Order: sequence, then C-alpha cells, then structure tokens
Amino acid sequence: MRLILLGPPGAGKGTQAQRLTTNQGLVQLSTGDMLRAAVKAGTAIGLKAKAVMDSGALVSDEIVVGIIAERIDQPDCRKGFILDGFPRTTKQAEALDKMLAERKLKLDAVIEMKVNDSVLVERITGRFTCGKCGAGYHDKFQPTRQPGVCDRCGSTEFTRRADDNADTVVSRLKAYHEQTAPLLPYYEGRGILKQVDGMAEIDEVTRQIEGILASL
Ligand code: ADP
Ligand code: ADP
Ligand code: ZN
Repeated sequence: MRLILLGPPGAGKGTQAQRLTTNQGLVQLSTGDMLRAAVKAGTAIGLKAKAVMDSGALVSDEIVVGIIAERIDQPDCRKGFILDGFPRTTKQAEALDKMLAERKLKLDAVIEMKVNDSVLVERITGRFTCGKCGAGYHDKFQPTRQPGVCDRCGSTEFTRRADDNADTVVSRLKAYHEQTAPLLPYYEGRGILKQVDGMAEIDEVTRQIEGILASL
C-alpha cells in the first residue's frame, strides 16, 4: 500500500502516520523528519535547508525529491509506505509520478486531512516530541499519560521544533495554500483523492482513515 497524507502543518499527518506504522506495518516517510535529521547531523543538505525551514518556506524541490528517490529504494519500503509531508508542490508530485512509474508502482490513495486554519496555531505551538523514540504529543490534545514521561519508551527528554512558533506558522500556512493545495485537484482528477475530517478527535480520524484503507 502506498499512501500520501496531505494537509496543512498541524493537520495531524505525523500523528496518523505513526499510528498507521504501528497498526498496518507501513513505513512512514516524513521529509520534514529527514530534513531535521540532516540539519542535526550537519550534512550538506542540512546546511542548505536550515535557514529555509526556520523561515517557514519550502526547501527546494530538487533536494526533497532526491531524498525521497533514495529512500523508496530501501528494502523496508517494499511492502509500502506513507508519504507524510511529500509531495508539497506540483513539481514534486510530477517527480513522484515519474519515480513510481519507473519502478512499476502505483499510488493507492491520497488522503486529505481537512482542517480549519483557525485551529492550527494552537496545534502547532502545543506540539512536542519524545527525544528518544520520536512519539508525538500535544500539551492539551495528546498529553503523556504520566506528566514528563513518554508513554512509549519511558524517556523524560522531549523536544520542540524551532519552527513551531506562531510567527512561522503564518508563512507555513501561506506556503501550503499557495504551493501545496493545488495538489488536491491534481489527485482528484485521477480519482484517488479521499477525505477525512481532521477536526475530529485523533481516534476518530484514525477510524476514518482505516475505513478508507479497508475500502481500497
Ligand atoms: P502534522 O504532521 O500534520 O504537522 P501533527 O500530527 O504533528 O501534524 O499534529 C500537530 C499537533 O496536533 C500534535 O501536537 C498532535 O498531537 C496534535 N493533533 C494531531 N491530530 C489532532 C486532532 N485530531 N485533534 C487535536 N490535536 C491533534
Ligand atoms: P509539518 O509537520 O508542520 O507539516 P514538516 O515537518 O512536514 O512540517 O516540514 C517542516 C519544514 O520542512 C517545512 O516547513 C519545509 O521547510 C520543509 N519541508 C518538509 N517537507 C518538504 C517538502 N516536501 N518540500 C519542501 N520543503 C519541505
Ligand atoms: Zn519515547
């Protein structure tokens, strides 16, 4: 199964992708996570990407397409994958089509997570992640069961993203509406666009996605 989760920053793509990884045995391919790893490691790509990410703009198509092209040839992707945060421009979507066609693979579905912009600032500014296992949380909407302790691995170290602040969110949302939203008609035209209510509770969104996967 090969899926794309599409939605603005804070829509819940990462949260749902993590659940699908656990429940369906699919690999999560998050270009945001890969870029942050490159920044942390100080690679050439990381050095180029850092300032762009901090400003809330999109990293060049060339860089992210290169990262994904390399990643989907890894053995763990053979059974399928969930693209979380890629593609984000029409150019990236076209490059993905080409990559998949060359490998005789097809996309099963593109799932749009529909949310109102008004909830995104609160979602993003309350987001934090386990520094050890990467589990995602939210101060209000998805707190750890025990304060300060990761549910999944017991770690007490958490991180918050440098770009998860109210100022950058405005630029990120603008980038979404201008550059990424045009992908919705692109995939709708091919009959593979599905929608879920991203405003619903996290468990309900998971149920809606599982319903879609069961119908494929
Ligand atoms: P994205 O990957 O689309 O940017 P995340 O999955 O990281 O979004 O979610 C953003 C924040 O909102 C996280 O802190 C997450 O815990 C929280 N969140 C995710 N889905 C929901 C939801 N349906 N309702 C409330 N909060 C949510
Ligand atoms: P969010 O979960 O909030 O949607 P991501 O973690 O996906 O954010 O992305 C964080 C930042 O990384 C983006 O603002 C952008 O600068 C960069 N980025 C991630 N994926 C892409 C992509 N496919 N194309 C261009 N830039 C990207
Ligand atoms: Zn953890």
